[in-house]
Amino acid sequence: MEVFADAQGENANDEYKSWKEHNRSDSYVISRRSRNDAMLHRADCWHLTDDFGPGVVVSLTAKPKYCSTDKRELENWAHENLDKGLKRCRTCM
Ligand SMILES: [Zn+2]
Repeated sequence: MEVFADAQGENANDEYKSWKEHNRSDSYVISRRSRNDAMLHRADCWHLTDDFGPGVVVSLTAKPKYCSTDKRELENWAHENLDKGLKRCRTCM
């Protein structure tokens, strides 16, 4: 599992996008909004893109991203680290 978060470094957003480029198919991402609010997506879900139109700059890793090609690894992480259960994106899961 790889973690990309702005709190860990200013290149996090670029590194996250690079990871997605190389792992687009059959990979999974947990987007963590707060301590106990996290949602599981497929890596290519449109919820995880930063295409908000020209001139809009958004860091995707302002909310930490937990990434893996192994969905079970992410589910196990959520089980151990979240008091509440992991949500699943209704669009992509
Ligand atoms: Zn999704």
